[in-house]
Amino acid sequence: MESKFFRKPAGAYTNQTAEPGTFKEFDATELYCPMCKRAVPVRKHLLIVLPEGDKYEYRCVFCSQSVGTKMDKKPIMIIS
Ligand SMILES: [Zn+2]
Repeated sequence: MESKFFRKPAGAYTNQTAEPGTFKEFDATELYCPMCKRAVPVRKHLLIVLPEGDKYEYRCVFCSQSVGTKMDKKPIMIIS
């Protein structure tokens, strides 16, 4: 506990109140889904929060199959 990590909140819920018809997150990323056998829009799920960044998993919006993961590295200020 000698160091403290400061970073901005992930902002995962900022799009929850978006107006109907705005699916910004949906077309942001398309990945190949082995279950649907085509490129599909994906949903981003926060898997784990690490000191060096947040790890996200992408899941197919149709069948919820995991189609990839991503490490979202954040700038960190270490106060010592
Ligand atoms: Zn799928």
